[in-house]
Amino acid sequence: MEMIRYSRQIVLKYIGEDNQRKLLEKSILIVGLGGTGSTAAEMFSRLGVKKLILVDRDKIEITNLHRQILYGMDDLKKYKAETAAEKLRKINPGVQVEFYNETFDSSMAWLVNSVDLVFDGTDNMTTRFIINDACDKYGKPWVFTSAIEMYGEFKAVIPGKTSCYACFNSEPTELPACEVSGVLNTVPTIIASYGVNLAMKILLDYKIDGSIYFIDAFSFEINRIDIERNNKCRCCHEKDYKYLGKEYSGIGKSILL
Ligand SMILES: [Zn+2]
Repeated sequence: MEMIRYSRQIVLKYIGEDNQRKLLEKSILIVGLGGTGSTAAEMFSRLGVKKLILVDRDKIEITNLHRQILYGMDDLKKYKAETAAEKLRKINPGVQVEFYNETFDSSMAWLVNSVDLVFDGTDNMTTRFIINDACDKYGKPWVFTSAIEMYGEFKAVIPGKTSCYACFNSEPTELPACEVSGVLNTVPTIIASYGVNLAMKILLDYKIDGSIYFIDAFSFEINRIDIERNNKCRCCHEKDYKYLGKEYSGIGKSILL
């Protein structure tokens, strides 16, 4: 095994050879290969895991390039998931990469059961509810991330241990979009970095709380807000997985909020 590649992180006392070997057995599903998801995909690849599964139906546009650092001019009009897969295989051939140039919908929720963790690189609440229901159903942790304007946020969701996304959100609402509100080009990268750190700690069984962390990249402020488990939660308490139903299959972009 190509352990020399990881020598600079193996010397870290929080990682070490045993934990590196653990990471190299892990599989991660990344939903959304935009600024946060594609940067996270590259960092997971360099961190060293067994397998990455990438899902995104979008193609690369020139307006993406100020922040989506995995892509360049030669990639315009190509699928993000497929392009990311090609690049990741060159960065670290030791990591298996699978991709789907499709919208992650309820028909793809089974993928969650084949991985150890899901990383959310999406920009809409509907997809997050599908991820949340699937992760609760299959007992898999996921990392929620979001990046817009000067701000980003992230949170761990660990079934049975932390609050879930539905504990503090009842229905999808339309979120501000990057094309309207803009996004500072450092924000997705900052949030991807923290999100990958959080994922790594979850995968290595370090103690994690269910707080949501807000980062203002312009003022450098970081705020942590405790999110308690909601004992009336539709998802993690009542186990009503409505976002895994047929109406959330084949949704394309049509009902994504
Ligand atoms: Zn919940």
